[in-house]
Amino acid sequence: MADQPDVDTFPDATLIELTAGVVQSYLNNNQMQPDQVPNLMQEVHDKFTQLQGGTASAEASSTAEATGPQHAPPVKPKNSVRKNDVVCLECGKTYKTLKRHLRTEHGLEENDYKARWDLPASMKLVAKSYSEQRSQMAKDLGLGEKSAGRGRGRKKA
Ligand SMILES: [Zn+2]
Repeated sequence: MADQPDVDTFPDATLIELTAGVVQSYLNNNQMQPDQVPNLMQEVHDKFTQLQGGTASAEASSTAEATGPQHAPPVKPKNSVRKNDVVCLECGKTYKTLKRHLRTEHGLEENDYKARWDLPASMKLVAKSYSEQRSQMAKDLGLGEKSAGRGRGRKKA
């Protein structure tokens, strides 16, 4: 037998070479109609592409991250907290606050979710206007006094 393609040692071989090698050795041992060969090649090629961590279809995009979640987020994770709502990166729905939704719909704790989408632990999964409203309410109720002095620059004389 000549050089059999060895799947374990193919870092340098091109997909085409690998595909051709596999298909050829397959044809050496199997009867096949000539018009089935292209399909076989396509199949083998796709399989190798998958093994290499790529996608079999031509859709491979430059934005895909090797270690990211299994689907693309509906918005950039860092932009998911917006003025009036927060986008759930899991399902694309929007909420004022995500915490309860994550738990009930996705079985995720806030921290799991942040780790999953590479979000800073300090990030609040609450619509900006909503959290402002709440801190304003807290202030109105006299709860914000401990943090007084942080609002520097808010009101200019
Ligand atoms: Zn969701």
